[in-house]
Amino acid sequence: MYNTIIIGAGIAGSVMARKLAEEGGEQVLVLERRDHIAGNCYDKADEYGVLIHEYGPHIFHTGIEEVREYLSRFTDWYDFGHEVVANVHGRLIPIPFNLNTLHMVYEKEQADRLEKKLIEAYGEGSRVPIMKLRENEDADIRQIAEYVYENVFLKYTMKQWGQTPEEISPEVTGRVPVLISRDNRYFQDKYQGVPLYGFTPMFERMLDHPGIEVQTGTDCKDRLSFSADGTVLFDGEPYTGRIVYTGAIDELFDCVYGRLPYRSLNFVFEHYEQDDFQGHSVVNYTVSEDYTRITEFKHLTGQKDAKGTTIVKEYPFAYTGADGEIPYYAILNDKNQALYEKYKALTKRYGNLYLLGRLAEYKYYNIDAMTKHALELADELMAKRA
Ligand SMILES: Cc1cc2nc3c(=O)[nH]c(=O)nc-3n(C[C@H](O)[C@H](O)[C@H](O)COP(=O)(O)OP(=O)(O)OC[C@H]3O[C@@H](n4cnc5c(N)ncnc54)[C@H](O)[C@@H]3O)c2cc1C
Repeated sequence: MYNTIIIGAGIAGSVMARKLAEEGGEQVLVLERRDHIAGNCYDKADEYGVLIHEYGPHIFHTGIEEVREYLSRFTDWYDFGHEVVANVHGRLIPIPFNLNTLHMVYEKEQADRLEKKLIEAYGEGSRVPIMKLRENEDADIRQIAEYVYENVFLKYTMKQWGQTPEEISPEVTGRVPVLISRDNRYFQDKYQGVPLYGFTPMFERMLDHPGIEVQTGTDCKDRLSFSADGTVLFDGEPYTGRIVYTGAIDELFDCVYGRLPYRSLNFVFEHYEQDDFQGHSVVNYTVSEDYTRITEFKHLTGQKDAKGTTIVKEYPFAYTGADGEIPYYAILNDKNQALYEKYKALTKRYGNLYLLGRLAEYKYYNIDAMTKHALELADELMAKRA
């Protein structure tokens, strides 16, 4: 009855479902364990009417025209240049650390001199990973690197990952750059913002197609079973259609080799009667507090019609797989990758099973990269069938 069963209604599963139904003319069933669609991009009005992001702040940012165009079919945008500040001993400075930050941190004469050196060393407009800056031969540049390392990077990274920066993959540390520019935006992508009416309505429109059936509150393990001989049963009957799985790969195989390590987050929401809590959408706490950042949603969504303001504090911790915990960030290193590959090898038994998404691929994706990858895989799958 269904050409494809998709597990997970996050961005990966939803983009895939729409494309297969619309362009492939397929009947697609989406099974979603949570009681809502949109995966980690899910947003909703809280009890005070403030639009909140239940799984942490999500900002859509991309330079990929095709992705922006595709998602724009399902939403208009509230565009803004996303800015983040760090609270360093009570003082707010723009991050990533850039030339404006440099001038806030150092006296004018020294800042001018350091700015010149940075531009000479790396070129105006460049992004330099903090670990690279620390290796520079010039003592002045290393001094900036040390400031950034101590005040912006070290404690925050240890809170976030529960590891020292040296233990963390360069792919992760490379995401913490110093910008040799006066651009205070957190991302440099051409398009930045959030869906005008929220992420969830964007997903609703994407999944609203006669070829798509969505069942929320349904764990795929209650409907699908994967036997060691390669047979797949759906509701107890052999199923030979395609399966696109966007859940955690270790859970699919009952964690037979042990759990893949993840960092999780505890989100603590607070509501205040005042109009404004912190004057910024996101403040990172880089030298103090147990939480990593505070997000004030009104500054992120541009919402004007709610009284009071809601914030969320994020407390990272090591994911254990206990009930209610959500795996958020894959911990990328060789050991974990090897474990992932063992699980991936098990999927080879099933000719029609495809892995897609941050959990199934054990990889960090931004929304735009995830969308692009889902669109590409959908094209591949449709070409195979044709
Ligand atoms: C805190 C945080 C902030 C982020 N901020 C940004 C940002 O600002 N900008 C950005 O571009 N990206 C951001 N991201 C990344 C973004 O969340 C991911 O790109 C996106 O969630 C990946 O989509 P996905 O569909 O792979 O996963 P998910 O959104 O996690 O969707 C997977 C879905 O599968 C479901 N599922 C799992 N197992 C089963 C099962 N057994 N049966 C049924 N359903 C199942 C889950 O319930 C979930 O809904 C952020 C990520 C985090 C963790």
